[in-house]
Amino acid sequence: MQTWVISCSLKEYDVIGAFREFDAIDWKQSANFEVRDIIFIYVSHPIMKLFFKCVVEEIGLETRSQKDREFVSGINSFEDKGRYMRLKRITTFEEPIPFKLLSENGLKGNVQGPRRISGMLLEFIESYLEKSRVNNVSILEDNRLNESIQKSLTRNINPVKYVPKPKVKPQHNYVDGVKVYPRCREVAINALIRADFKCECAVDHSTFKSKFNGLPYMEAHHLIPLAYQDEFDFSLDVEANVVSLCSHCHNEFHYGQEANSNLLRLLKMRQNELMDCGIIIEVSLILEFYK
Ligand SMILES: [Zn+2]
Ligand SMILES: [Zn+2]
Repeated sequence: MQTWVISCSLKEYDVIGAFREFDAIDWKQSANFEVRDIIFIYVSHPIMKLFFKCVVEEIGLETRSQKDREFVSGINSFEDKGRYMRLKRITTFEEPIPFKLLSENGLKGNVQGPRRISGMLLEFIESYLEKSRVNNVSILEDNRLNESIQKSLTRNINPVKYVPKPKVKPQHNYVDGVKVYPRCREVAINALIRADFKCECAVDHSTFKSKFNGLPYMEAHHLIPLAYQDEFDFSLDVEANVVSLCSHCHNEFHYGQEANSNLLRLLKMRQNELMDCGIIIEVSLILEFYK
């Protein structure tokens, strides 16, 4: 089994549109592809990103299926005589990989004709895919938690007396093939109560009142992401590791270029509590988690 990158020009064939509609498409068999070979499809200029991972299902087809005709533009190589192969899509990249990153990680020159890939470049692509999958699942789980907090909170709040101590890791499950540790709603709610429903980046950050409970709207965020639970002996889902953030700051933690200073400050603030929970972390490691 070989792994290849092939290039597609949207001017000739709208591979993005075609894979939106079909799980498998036929492609000109312009190299020694074999059944079960893995093929990454790179969309060329002006997009210049790696978009799909496919597997070769069949080779040596005499004609190509015409079902995706509307995605073929004008006269082009797809209509040449020759043999075709059937490509079944395995993954559409949620975050297609830009050419620049591919170049920095072992891709030599431009992607034109089909080429085999292996080693560093292949490892990079696979780990990028894995990381982006983990990231998407974490954000989904994060949103789910915060929505359920809003729906279950009521105005009757009892003050929380929190004594940090090590907590056993809960049983994990899988979402989209990604290992997920459950997030405890009570822990997250306690974290918001402890912060008195204020943003822990700065208490004067403005927010609005939640339609579900009339309380100032705040979101819970795990400073050390639960996606890294396996690297710790004790549960990360503890009040010590959960902060209350306004939605702006929360989004900045996940998407911001400059989230690091707030992150490090909050982490420092929680350092002792985290230690009491059996959680010790190097600053450089946490920055790696947030990359
Ligand atoms: Zn978060
Ligand atoms: Zn804030």
